Amino acid sequence: MGAAYLEKLNPEQRLAVEYGTDLLPSTIGGPLLVIAGAGSGKTNTLAHRVAHLIVKGTDPGRILLMTFSRRAASEMARRVERICTQVLGANAGVLTDALAWAGTFHGIGARLLRDYAEQIGLNPDFTIHDREDSADLMNLVRHELGFSKTESRFPTKGTCLAIYSRVVNSEVPLAEVLQAFFPWVAGWEKQLRELFAAYVEAKQLQYVLDYDDLLLYWAQTVGDPMLAEDMGCRWDHVLVDEYQDTNRLQASILLALRPAGVGLTVVGDDAQSIYSFRAATVRNILDFPATFTPQASIVTLDRNYRSTQPILAAANGVIDLARERFTKNLWSERESAERPRMVTVKDEADQARYIVEQVLENRETGTLLKQQAVLFRTSHHSGPLEVELTRRNIPFVKFGGLKFLDSAHVKDMLALLRFAQNPRDRVAGFRLMQIIPGVGPTSARRVLDEMAEQPDPLGALAQIAPPPRAGNDWSAFVNALNDLKRGTTGWPAELERARAWYEPHLDRIHEDAEIRKTDLLQLEQIAAGYASRERFLTELTLDPPDATSDQSGVPLLDEDYLILSTIHSAKGLEWKSVFILNAVDGCIPSDLGAGTTAELEEERRLLYVAMTRAKDSLHLILPQRFFTHGQNSLGDRHVYASRTRFIPATLLQYFENRPWPVHNRDQEARAKDVRSQRVDVAAKMRAMWR
Ligand code: ATP
Ligand code: MG
Repeated sequence: MGAAYLEKLNPEQRLAVEYGTDLLPSTIGGPLLVIAGAGSGKTNTLAHRVAHLIVKGTDPGRILLMTFSRRAASEMARRVERICTQVLGANAGVLTDALAWAGTFHGIGARLLRDYAEQIGLNPDFTIHDREDSADLMNLVRHELGFSKTESRFPTKGTCLAIYSRVVNSEVPLAEVLQAFFPWVAGWEKQLRELFAAYVEAKQLQYVLDYDDLLLYWAQTVGDPMLAEDMGCRWDHVLVDEYQDTNRLQASILLALRPAGVGLTVVGDDAQSIYSFRAATVRNILDFPATFTPQASIVTLDRNYRSTQPILAAANGVIDLARERFTKNLWSERESAERPRMVTVKDEADQARYIVEQVLENRETGTLLKQQAVLFRTSHHSGPLEVELTRRNIPFVKFGGLKFLDSAHVKDMLALLRFAQNPRDRVAGFRLMQIIPGVGPTSARRVLDEMAEQPDPLGALAQIAPPPRAGNDWSAFVNALNDLKRGTTGWPAELERARAWYEPHLDRIHEDAEIRKTDLLQLEQIAAGYASRERFLTELTLDPPDATSDQSGVPLLDEDYLILSTIHSAKGLEWKSVFILNAVDGCIPSDLGAGTTAELEEERRLLYVAMTRAKDSLHLILPQRFFTHGQNSLGDRHVYASRTRFIPATLLQYFENRPWPVHNRDQEARAKDVRSQRVDVAAKMRAMWR
């Protein structure tokens, strides 16, 4: 019977796919590490391995598959289904639907914590704070401790959160983190310690977890040997993609779930490690063999199937200059006469025009917009391009940028659902109450304080004296919450109930209420895709949908659209044609990143990740002038740019260099010709009557 899907793999890939699968389930095989460069088929191999396990009879529900984004997880599930269908026919769909444990570390963590909530002293109704909510809570706590008023130069809420997050993710003491990364606020160590203690306590009292907590609580849970064993027994296989971007907590979770590495497969590429600002550490992948000595097997892949030879040569050139690297150079059989292009343009406006021109030209010659992507170091770099695309009516989707869910009205709706789920969530409650006319921070705080003292805060809300100036609007609020709490309307119809409460306020607050209402309808559509309120809130908070050109949040699936993405969010993806914006010093490396050697090396890897996304054509664009957004002491300003230092003169041979617009000189010459020409129109007019 057709192992045709295995025939397409090269011998090393096949080894990784079949590794240990001939053994009995109880002796599933030791730990496996696939370490290989970009585009060598790591993700593809992982998908084949999962499919192969299923074909061989593994229960899909006993496979834990962790990827870098939810999009990557669902893409992987689709690939698995395709492969299984080849072998198993129509039944495969059912099997792969049962691949229930595919997602991100954070998403999987959230689900497990709800399952184990009772055992670990968590309220199972906990809600999850996104970064903005976390910063708001940090701010509330800071105010309560009086740090912000008395100490005017106390670090901002964002800095406080960044420090806190560093400490918990890297498992490095506060003092060291301050010295290494935030030396300018090191003097506040004592106050920060106090603040973080209060922040942790506030989260516990309010039954909220932030992003970091999902990993932290998970790691703590499996720190208990009995719970670790119980949890580990849920799966026969644990597989992780993009392992180079996991942090120490994630590594310790894996180790606890798979102490001897049985049935553990991780894949990654140290040359693509780009998340150290979230405390990811490339040591995880490098230390894997030692952690699991002597059982660990290592497979390396060195053939790149993605890019043409000239693109790969240029990318190899860039990464060859890295100080430290373990994976080997890749080779490709995809011949092409076209070298990557390095295009110099006047400024960012020209850059945008150049891209639009090229993108449309590519579309003329048969490359869909979807097969083209524009990548940039930082989300706001794409501003001028977005304007130009909008002006020219070219649809686009932006990954990793401003999210649909960031808009105030959508956040208000989600806060209502969250508050109904967990009435101790102060950030949600504080936000909601102040929507009501006549309710300010002081009375909101007072009501929240009174609620917090009650065993059933929502039940008690009706008895608590309303803010004096709130009037009827207050009871409408209380009624809506109670309806949602009781679940009278059911899921997802309760969104209509929530909207019924919110819309009158929307009309009052926003002039463009009508446009915003369509967003709320979109939200209902998105909600319909989730089984419960809790799954909806969790998954949306952890990995929101990407903003589209019409800001609807629902990807325009049937339409053709150009992809705009930060390099970070482009990880693991590929396109026929790739444009890298602002390939100049100050952008890559960014001003912020140009500090320590380690940071600089990470910026180099970022450029490598960006270049290796391209299959057939790669353009690096270099505006001679670009705009910086107050990243340095000089604030917003135009700066003159030079080519990124990661492409020194020695690498120029790999590129075709072009100024743009190339036709400028022709145009100027033609203009001169025209001006020197004499046409005596007046004489012609007279001649007509002769
Ligand atoms: P990255 O490091 O960027 O995550 P990767 O190593 O995960 O890359 P994949 O995305 O799995 O690489 O594969 C890159 C491309 O090569 C995909 O288009 C994939 O379909 C193709 N590919 C992988 N293996 C083979 C193969 N054996 N034969 C033909 N094409 C392949
Ligand atoms: Mg991959």
